[in-house]
Amino acid sequence: MSDFTIKPLIRKGKPKQVLILGAGIAGLTAAYELDRVGHHVTVLEARRRSGGRIKTLREPFADGLYVESGAARIPNNHHWTLHYIKHFGLQISPFYPHERDFIHYCQGKAIRIEDEKKVTLAQYPLDFTPEEKAMTLKDIWQKVFSPLLMEIGDASLLDWPPEPLRKYDQMTVGEFLSSQGISPNVAKMFGFGHMDFSKDRVSTLEMLRLLAFGLKENQKVKIVGGFEQLPNAFAEHLKDKICYGAQVFRVLQEPFSVNVFYHQGGLEQKISSDYVICTIPFSVLRKMKIAPGLSKAKNRAIQEMSYMSASRVFFQVRKRYWLEQGFNGFGLADYPTELWHSTFDIPQQRGILVYYLKGESSRRITAMTESERINDAQKQLNSMLPGLTDYNEGGFSFCWDEDEYTQGAHSFLNPGEVTQLLPHSANPEGRIHFAGEHTSAWHGWIQGGIESGYRAAKEINDLTPISS
Ligand SMILES: Cc1cc2nc3c(=O)[nH]c(=O)nc-3n(C[C@H](O)[C@H](O)[C@H](O)COP(=O)(O)OP(=O)(O)OC[C@H]3O[C@@H](n4cnc5c(N)ncnc54)[C@H](O)[C@@H]3O)c2cc1C
Repeated sequence: MSDFTIKPLIRKGKPKQVLILGAGIAGLTAAYELDRVGHHVTVLEARRRSGGRIKTLREPFADGLYVESGAARIPNNHHWTLHYIKHFGLQISPFYPHERDFIHYCQGKAIRIEDEKKVTLAQYPLDFTPEEKAMTLKDIWQKVFSPLLMEIGDASLLDWPPEPLRKYDQMTVGEFLSSQGISPNVAKMFGFGHMDFSKDRVSTLEMLRLLAFGLKENQKVKIVGGFEQLPNAFAEHLKDKICYGAQVFRVLQEPFSVNVFYHQGGLEQKISSDYVICTIPFSVLRKMKIAPGLSKAKNRAIQEMSYMSASRVFFQVRKRYWLEQGFNGFGLADYPTELWHSTFDIPQQRGILVYYLKGESSRRITAMTESERINDAQKQLNSMLPGLTDYNEGGFSFCWDEDEYTQGAHSFLNPGEVTQLLPHSANPEGRIHFAGEHTSAWHGWIQGGIESGYRAAKEINDLTPISS
């Protein structure tokens, strides 16, 4: 782990009353850091658990197996996340196995991949020029994006990018690739397994920022024993300062306080505080009432920020049949879908395959009934990794678009949003401060939740004391 450390806050003046909306990783970080230095915190959380989009599923699986329905891997340059993992004494291990081969599924053909870094386009059954055939996926990224990366600046700032790059926020990745003379088949390989850039309207700058962060990463890790241990460790310290089953529906700012209205146990409740940190995803917040009205720029960010669609279908299998074929159970498809065998490091016969759909693939499956989803995923997965139908003990799905308290997977910015919405996402409005992955340059990651939670806690801690 790195030497990156986060300084605990130093309280200025008398303790402040702070109400935190949401016990996801952003709210928990803010509450933990404020509580540590003696501020009075209360966290209102609509669910009966903490962690939000960090959710380990242990039911309905046999033999102690578990999987993640949300966050599942941490790039090893996510220093904020790794800091708290170390702080709470949790262990990490590689997300991907080092043994056996990956599968890339393209045009109905399963391709054995020994080393993802070395695979060239020649191995895929699509029409490429001889020059294209010799290229690896990384070569293409570098060829197209290297000139832009030279001017990248500090992509971890909310008001990024430098002026010469701003124009790229007006183009989708698909439009940018075609403006660079990239053929449709090569463009298809850009998003392989992750995104269909011909259908998903992702800003070129959103992709560039992800790429810039990715260049400083050389491994993805996971939390040994399940990701829920991270929010649980925070929640253990906060205990009765978290109020569960409290669904906030209205926030009213007064000159010297903020009133928050919520439903709990069928009753309408009200609580007042000096300050509020709101970590509720904008996809949910946009349906709530905040009075008096917020600034035009903030309101636009709340109303318009785009969210990624993501779904997972989990299959419990009685035997890890793919191991005998020399596969490790991980793969990518030419529609935005990944295959994971995340139980690979739990030594036993039984295992769980995770079929992970994003963007267009996710929206398609979300529109189906549960039995249609299982049948569809089983059919697709059986073509990718033949044998599933013989060993399948049953499956179920989780579609994040249907989750009442998230309504989407995470923010993922369309053209115009990197320069016009994100910079306004974090600004406080009077006594209301904002945190959550959607208010961070690291949006879409635990790192964004943590970094923004700490930032909002610091903002309030640093305010001139109200009554010292
Ligand atoms: C499918 C998927 C895959 C992901 N993969 C990864 C990954 O591999 N690695 C990674 O680092 N990150 C990943 N992420 C992103 C990561 O999970 C999030 O960025 C992070 O957990 C967000 O934390 P948060 O606190 O901002 O939001 P949340 O976790 O959503 O917390 C917000 C909280 O507010 C609560 N809330 C909502 N409405 C109300 C209301 N009206 N009243 C009271 N409470 C309310 C919610 O219940 C929730 O607990 C993934 C996310 C998803 C969905």
